[in-house]
Amino acid sequence: AEQTYDVVIIGAGGAGFSAALEAKQAGASVVLLEKMPSVGGNTLISGGEMNAANTWVQKNLGIEDSTELFIEDTLKGGDNVGDPEMVRVLAENATAAAEWLKDEVKVNFLKDHLFQFGGHSVKRALIPEGHTGAELITKLKKHLDEMGIDLKTNTKAEKLLTDDSGKVIGVEAAGANGGTITFHANKGVIIASGGFGSNVEMRKQYNPEYDEKYMTTDAPGTTGDGIVMAEAVGAALTNMESIQTYPVCSPKTGVISLVADSRFDGAILVNQSGQRFVEELERRDVISKGILAQEGGYAYQLWNQEIGDISKTVETHKDEYEMLVKDGLLYKADTLKEAAEFFKIDPEALQATIDRVNKFAKSGKDEDFNHRAGLKDMSKGPYYIQKAVPSVHHTMGGLVINKTTEVLNEQGQPIPGLFAAGEVTGVIHGKNRLGGNAIADAITFGRIAGQQAAK
Ligand code: ADP
Repeated sequence: AEQTYDVVIIGAGGAGFSAALEAKQAGASVVLLEKMPSVGGNTLISGGEMNAANTWVQKNLGIEDSTELFIEDTLKGGDNVGDPEMVRVLAENATAAAEWLKDEVKVNFLKDHLFQFGGHSVKRALIPEGHTGAELITKLKKHLDEMGIDLKTNTKAEKLLTDDSGKVIGVEAAGANGGTITFHANKGVIIASGGFGSNVEMRKQYNPEYDEKYMTTDAPGTTGDGIVMAEAVGAALTNMESIQTYPVCSPKTGVISLVADSRFDGAILVNQSGQRFVEELERRDVISKGILAQEGGYAYQLWNQEIGDISKTVETHKDEYEMLVKDGLLYKADTLKEAAEFFKIDPEALQATIDRVNKFAKSGKDEDFNHRAGLKDMSKGPYYIQKAVPSVHHTMGGLVINKTTEVLNEQGQPIPGLFAAGEVTGVIHGKNRLGGNAIADAITFGRIAGQQAAK
């Protein structure tokens, strides 16, 4: 079968949806291909938080921020391996992208709460209602339907088609009914197929450290297809060895814990001996390595009701909470002693740790690990204690794109007709992606890709 559109987009996550909406808005005919039976990718299962500087919520809360500070944090967070010009494009356009989500796509963001993920100097992550990517994907999908854009699920892009000059002119895909469908693209193809966190072989190919011993938080569709397809038409790859683990995941499934987002409001991490070992707002790679260096390679996250009342993660992520309790991985206890005993931690050692935390909360200075937001008093119960391990979460490397999201070859020249956005690209996050920057990246560059490909 053959079909023709102006713009063909591979992958229905945050980047693909944003690209599709913008390309259509610019007047192009658009098809969005998704290999899984349902849409959303990693965007759907993420917390959905999105960083931007000088947003309406920062203004509501009286938080001072700037584009320059956002750029500085992002570059530094990635060990200055990210491309400064591309990070600038991200930071300069993320605020408009967030406003677009709010005003055009009708995404509901909390008006009075922001996250300060590790590595950020201020609270700048917008939180969608429900604290997951579901709010983003539900609204993006609704908008897509309203605009009459064709979406093909169970349709796996397998090959980019080029003409004699090397221009990308379409996509060959395996269709829902088993046959091959050729999608001709009059104007351009956009790759928005996400990362390769769920592809263990590919992880090992680029960094043997991230083998089977790690589970993954990622959606099953994130197998690096777009990277392989683009490489076959001459695209350059960069930063492929940089693979991120998320520190606080289920030891049973590898799934990211959103209940544990209480960490951003003061929850602490302790080891089997009841000792803290890291600043809880450190970068993900630092915390992950810290956890793996502890006895057994796991840690416990501990918080009390007062912290829980601020972050409300137990109420917000009720299903995850109940699952963790059922699996014996999370326990609510009236007293600290009970919390310690549930996981066979020495109660006196844990009490001593909490006494120190309370002392530092009072003085305002964490003398042990210099907690950047300041520790909270945890003398009052009830307590929540949760067992956690790191799990593969994000692949920072991928395709090289320029400011207009054109995919570049080994010589640094754009491959005509080919664009990319989101986790499939490799130029923004350097060695380590900061929390809230994946959604910002996917939405911001997805929009640019849609606008450019429609030209
Ligand atoms: P991003 O955040 O960059 O948008 P996501 O992980 O949210 O990335 O979305 C990527 C989407 O692309 C997923 O839904 C995934 O299933 C889809 N995908 C991956 N490979 C292919 C492919 N070969 N053909 C079609 N869709 C794909």
